[in-house]
Amino acid sequence: MNKKGILVVVSGFSGAGKGTIMKQLLEEYPGRYSLSISATTRSPRNGESHGKEYFFVSREEFEQMIDENALIEYAQYVGNYYGTPKEYVMGQLDEGRDVILEIEIQGALKVKEAYPDTLLLFVSPPNAGELKNRLVNRGTEDMATIDSRLNRAWQEAQGVEQYDYFVVNDNLEECVQQVHSIIQNEHAHVARNHEVIENIRTELRGFVKGD
Ligand code: 5GP
Repeated sequence: MNKKGILVVVSGFSGAGKGTIMKQLLEEYPGRYSLSISATTRSPRNGESHGKEYFFVSREEFEQMIDENALIEYAQYVGNYYGTPKEYVMGQLDEGRDVILEIEIQGALKVKEAYPDTLLLFVSPPNAGELKNRLVNRGTEDMATIDSRLNRAWQEAQGVEQYDYFVVNDNLEECVQQVHSIIQNEHAHVARNHEVIENIRTELRGFVKGD
């Protein structure tokens, strides 16, 4: 029996190190996870390329995807659209891979509403000062954008209780292992094993009858 993969949403303040954690997770456990690649209208940062970090599209192209119902969810974040293409995610889940969406909170809650068995993880740096340092040291945004992202982080901090798990990214390797354990343990959740449980019950019933 090919067990369906788990849909996992990872959110976290901008600059929390989500991207690095996900990259490492995929490298350490090849074939087990798939990372969804989002579409966005924001411009590529230095070193980013189309189809790798994001599909970089125009507002018109993005709105066409919305109209065609080609996105699982989408949201606006600091002036740009971001959204998750549906086809790839559904295909990977059917093939038994756990699919990770690295998206912000509005999108996360929309995914949970549409697919209630989604696992929601929130990644945070150990404290807010560290968050600001990471954003500044990354050097990819101007100060006004950093301020908008910090402002957005403050808003997102109000919604953390809606997530299933809160992971602190203090040490990268420990954080990667923690994320991996959370997702793998989730496979053993009773709610995800109804079919196996029912099969065993049916077999047992047979044994009892023949007693
Ligand atoms: P960044 O511009 O730093 O790459 O991403 C900004 C925010 O948008 C991050 O919190 C990121 O997780 C989120 N994001 C990236 N892709 C998507 C998406 O497909 N949908 C939603 N809702 N948020 C996304």
